[in-house]
Amino acid sequence: MTEQTPLARSFSGMQPTGSIHLGNYLGAVDNWVKLQGQHESFICIVDYHALTIPYEPVDMPKRVFDLALTFLACGIDPARTTLFVQSSVPAHTELCWLLNTVTPMGDLGRMTQFKEKSDQHKQNVNVGLFDYPVLQAADIALYHATVVPVGEDQVQHLEFAREVVRRWNARFGEYLAEPKPYLSKTPRVLGLDGKAKMSKSLGNHIGLLETDDEIAAKLKGAFTDPQRLRRTDPGRPEVCNIFTLHGALTPAAEVAAIDRDCRAAALGCGDCKKMLGASLSQRLTPIRDKYAELSQRPDDVIGVLDAGGRRCREIAADTMAETRARMGLKIEAP
Ligand code: ATP
Ligand code: MG
Repeated sequence: MTEQTPLARSFSGMQPTGSIHLGNYLGAVDNWVKLQGQHESFICIVDYHALTIPYEPVDMPKRVFDLALTFLACGIDPARTTLFVQSSVPAHTELCWLLNTVTPMGDLGRMTQFKEKSDQHKQNVNVGLFDYPVLQAADIALYHATVVPVGEDQVQHLEFAREVVRRWNARFGEYLAEPKPYLSKTPRVLGLDGKAKMSKSLGNHIGLLETDDEIAAKLKGAFTDPQRLRRTDPGRPEVCNIFTLHGALTPAAEVAAIDRDCRAAALGCGDCKKMLGASLSQRLTPIRDKYAELSQRPDDVIGVLDAGGRRCREIAADTMAETRARMGLKIEAP
């Protein structure tokens, strides 16, 4: 019998900070679904991370549950992916502490997400927000994951995570794995304002579970090519967020026709947006249907998270035993 090479591990996470949007889907979740089977996949609902911005404790369990339900509706298959909640594996915070001790503060102060979130939440610039990238490095390192499917905004955090791992390995011996980002074709989906990235917390998003009518209404006001002032002006698809979304959602032949007709002013922005609405409906209807169906079986969702937590606690215990020993935290009789 030939021995099979074990699959590389992939790990990614999402914060339960609000309803999942098209950017999350096209930047991350769609890849999570596609990579299942190619890697040994871990998907984590990162509730510890979500505590770093203002929130209501009573809302958190519902948000976590809802995110799990949404992932399953999107096609995350518990037979091929370990889906779990971060706080069900306390080792995440323990490893974070150990990695903190090899992390220079200056590196954390340079993180774009820290600067942006500190600006957004001036009343609560907490140590957790500052330390977020170290916890993220720990999340991944705990499972020796090397492949991390994320959106472009997380690339800086992954470079940082690699450095932390390198520093730790240099000090305590090669053990932790260096993670690399894995990006989709649309790693940075812009919000409806066409300026900032689409975000749960900025209110510029299209929710994955919104109705066709709600989406059509949002698309009407969405930013396109700012130089296209009249219907008769030729458009520039390369600067248009709506066209980028077509690229991810509409069949290639139709995208080529849209490109041609937009440039020739044969297709107006209103009609182009209606076509995008149709593509979205086609992609999202099965997800909404599955979401409605799974909502009837909440115990199944909890069962998936419980099983995921159990498996991850076992893996994490192994990693922590070795990590602690290497750092001199294993007491033995002299
Ligand atoms: P928040 O505003 O609370 O930070 P978020 O929308 O940025 O929420 P996260 O939970 O921080 O969502 O990120 C989850 C995943 O979605 C990450 O891999 C992130 O890179 C990806 N992602 C988030 N926004 C986008 C976007 N606009 N385009 C592509 N990927 C995105
Ligand atoms: Mg984010």
